[in-house]
Amino acid sequence: MTTDKSALRPKTWPEGSDSALGTPLQPSVVYTTQDADALDAIYEGRADGFTYSREGHPNARSLAARIDALEGAEGGIMTGSGMGAISAVLLSQLSADDHVIGSDQLYGRSLRLITQELPRMGVEYSLVDATDAGAIEAAVKGNTKLMLVEVVANPTLRIADMEAVYRVARNRGFLVAVDNTFTTPLGYRPFEHGADIVIHSVTKLLGGHSDAMLGYVAARDERHRAELDGVIASFGQTASPYDCWTAEKGLLTFPLRYAQASANAAKLARFLDESPKVVRAVYPGLPSHPDHNRAGALLGENFGNMVSFAIEGGRETANQFARALSGVHFGPTLGDVATVVSHSASSSHRAVPEDERQKLGITQGFFRISVGIEDADFLSARFDAALSALK
Ligand SMILES: *Cc1c(COP(=O)(O)O)cnc(C)c1O
Repeated sequence: MTTDKSALRPKTWPEGSDSALGTPLQPSVVYTTQDADALDAIYEGRADGFTYSREGHPNARSLAARIDALEGAEGGIMTGSGMGAISAVLLSQLSADDHVIGSDQLYGRSLRLITQELPRMGVEYSLVDATDAGAIEAAVKGNTKLMLVEVVANPTLRIADMEAVYRVARNRGFLVAVDNTFTTPLGYRPFEHGADIVIHSVTKLLGGHSDAMLGYVAARDERHRAELDGVIASFGQTASPYDCWTAEKGLLTFPLRYAQASANAAKLARFLDESPKVVRAVYPGLPSHPDHNRAGALLGENFGNMVSFAIEGGRETANQFARALSGVHFGPTLGDVATVVSHSASSSHRAVPEDERQKLGITQGFFRISVGIEDADFLSARFDAALSALK
């Protein structure tokens, strides 16, 4: 494939570099060919290669192949963010006068995309409680084309009735797109259960180091895959080679991180559940969780790294707790190697009216923990100290 035509850019990359143990970073935007026929062959899929990095590049393909292997997918595509993947799904599968169903506890930006952006394009929507099979059935209309659902809701950690979602979708003929960011393919593999499309914010657990902003989307059907590909290239939702390269290094340790973070989360949840200062500990692995049985059926023992809990008191007590929590970061994200605590009322749910937040149990004293890979006893000790400091 070498096209050594230019005096300004002679090929100097050493022979044999393809035996490097680490994946090389390839930031080139442009890929040259010998002639027009060779370019045709690439565009028509008869030859392997790249043309222009908006349409695909080696680092995206390398990372997507690794996530494909985890998800049992084929031909997954990287995007510039998790929202890029979600918007590509909605933009590629929905047209004016179509109807989309979203679960009412989707990631905040997904809700805004469905309720504020899609209506401008003539797409109707309904939001439903995805733990309620009857509500899902009742929301379906003649023009329903797709349902977007997360298995584990943020930050209430309620578990969607996925069996009902797939059953209704099959009976009524619409697509199911699963945002698998929270559950990860080690907790749940949507394609094995009936999903048509799987989405990830790779920014979170898969990348794992808060240094790459990326999304991933895969479709079961080749036609949907081609439609996604077209939208991603035309709307410019391309992933950066650098972010793919660095996230790939993160992904190599994902199974180890996930095992450690999940074990830590189970321990921390039990600790919080027993703490007298905690009014409510939420973890799908706790028998007190409202969907504990469904979580077991869907996730087995893989209840994940997310734990939520509530303390009594208002914003002042919440601030006091956040300040007292030393050695644990406070910030609005999840999936990092380090444990990060967030305050849902002031971050993900700040746009939700107070009375609706109350209904979801998201009080001012409600916190979500993205548990990391620290030593479990260290974590319990840190939370214990911060809780004990509360008046
Ligand atoms: C963060 C997140 C997204 C959006 O991903 P970005 O990479 O931040 O764009 C979508 N869904 C879920 C569940 C998330 O946690």
